[in-house]
Amino acid sequence: MTAQDARTPAAVARGALERIGAGDPFTSDGELVCRSPIDGSELGRLPAHRPVDVHDAVATAGAAFEQWRTTPAPVRGQLVRELGNLLREHKEDLGALVTVEAGKIRSEGLGEVQEMIDICDFAVGLSRQLHGLTIASERPGHRMMEQWHPLGVVGVITAFNFPVAVWSWNTAVALACGDPVVWKPSEKSLLTALACQALLEEAARRVDAPAGLSQVLLGGADVGEALVDHRDVALLSATGSTRMGRQVAPRVAGRLGRYLLELGGNNAAIVTPSADLDLTVRGIVFSAVGTAGQRCTSLRRLIVHHSIRDEVVQRLRAAYETLPIGSPLEEGTLVGPLIDEASATAFGAALEAARADGGKVVTGGGAHDGVAGDGHYVQPAVVDMPEQTEIVRAETFAPILYVMGYDDLDEAIALHNGVEQGLSASIFTRDVREAERFLSAAGSDCGISNVNIGPSGAEIGGAFGGEKATGGGRESGSDAWKAYMRRATNTVNYSDELPLAQGVEFG
Ligand code: NAD
Repeated sequence: MTAQDARTPAAVARGALERIGAGDPFTSDGELVCRSPIDGSELGRLPAHRPVDVHDAVATAGAAFEQWRTTPAPVRGQLVRELGNLLREHKEDLGALVTVEAGKIRSEGLGEVQEMIDICDFAVGLSRQLHGLTIASERPGHRMMEQWHPLGVVGVITAFNFPVAVWSWNTAVALACGDPVVWKPSEKSLLTALACQALLEEAARRVDAPAGLSQVLLGGADVGEALVDHRDVALLSATGSTRMGRQVAPRVAGRLGRYLLELGGNNAAIVTPSADLDLTVRGIVFSAVGTAGQRCTSLRRLIVHHSIRDEVVQRLRAAYETLPIGSPLEEGTLVGPLIDEASATAFGAALEAARADGGKVVTGGGAHDGVAGDGHYVQPAVVDMPEQTEIVRAETFAPILYVMGYDDLDEAIALHNGVEQGLSASIFTRDVREAERFLSAAGSDCGISNVNIGPSGAEIGGAFGGEKATGGGRESGSDAWKAYMRRATNTVNYSDELPLAQGVEFG
């Protein structure tokens, strides 16, 4: 192999899979074609699962649950610790696979794997802290308490843009809580899924955990639907578009199952006259163009006080015009490709709609040529808008930042909250009254609200998720683990009497 060959996406992927222990998973007649958004090249073909395979996977996971639910939680934590160790060992290779398959720049690919390591650390600690309350009983000689028990099989459906981190948020916590996982990854990120599965299988072997605790089903929405509908899936955790959530939620609700939804965002930042503009512009640019605008938390709307609007727009234009766009395998690139042609088309169509609404494209908006092959690269756009029109209220999964002006903070907050999504939010200000107002009950209506940092780039220690059409789910840190367990309220009578609650007398 020449040095040149070693840099092709296919060569990078094959080398990484081999070292991770996933071997050579490709078959020449597989129906699922894996492509790299870097140059559109084919990485290989994989056989697809069918909806009927879901039944076997859930049955296998159910059998593993019988053993895992009575395994002491701190012992379960050892499996998660081993997974974290393997992720540390293979961080470079798994990060490279994320770059090849999702098109993230190297630093973001590695950052995604670091997030997996972080959630493993969190879940190991959690395995010694699963706790319930003891509550004062009104009856003498009685003790009332809560216990949290493992829930059952967790079905996980994930999106292409966080191909490994979202699986790990679910899996590390679910395993510590005593639940097996059946995973349906995005059809655009199959290789990273196989790599994660190989690492977890190796971790399970090392600690002698039951087989079947983690399984992967490769396929499209039909396989996802079979998982959604399966009666033995106790919790269905789905990450993706609001469109997908609207299909999934009624189906799970129809069988009275539990769901956890992490859906689309349309995140905004308010910039007030007191903001530190150097810091603000850096925060805006990272949040708006990082991952080429393909994060659920990407900054899409900027609400700037009229007195500083021109200056902020000019500074953004200057910053955008120096952005290094190109192959994410190249050192120094900050903006990689869009995932596919449909995304590039949506980017162009959104800009057209914005123009028709009176928007003015201040910078960017065109295609970026210069990377060999069939990748879809665009110049991130800033669009000055006269008002918050329908296209601004929609999530276009591409790097478009709409700028709107405001006069007073009430108006800014109303604009901020005037979309159906409610994921992540920011205010840039040095005025503590504005900051606190934004974080108050009358302020941002999002699940995540920040001061003087952009909306993108959450840490695993906090609960992650959003309100309204973002789905209302919470994953990752804080007490998000409670979604993966069932609560039992227990009352123990250690007296010789039988007093009834509420003073009821019964013979
Ligand atoms: P998508 O909705 O197209 O697909 C997501 C997953 O859902 C895929 O695995 C897909 O196969 C599956 N799916 C689609 N329809 C289904 C159905 N009817 N039943 C079962 N499964 C189905 O999303 P995408 O393009 O991969 O990802 C981008 C979207 O995901 C954006 O809207 C983004 O905001 C959102 N996202 C949200 C979060 C979050 O935490 N809130 C995180 C990442 C991505």
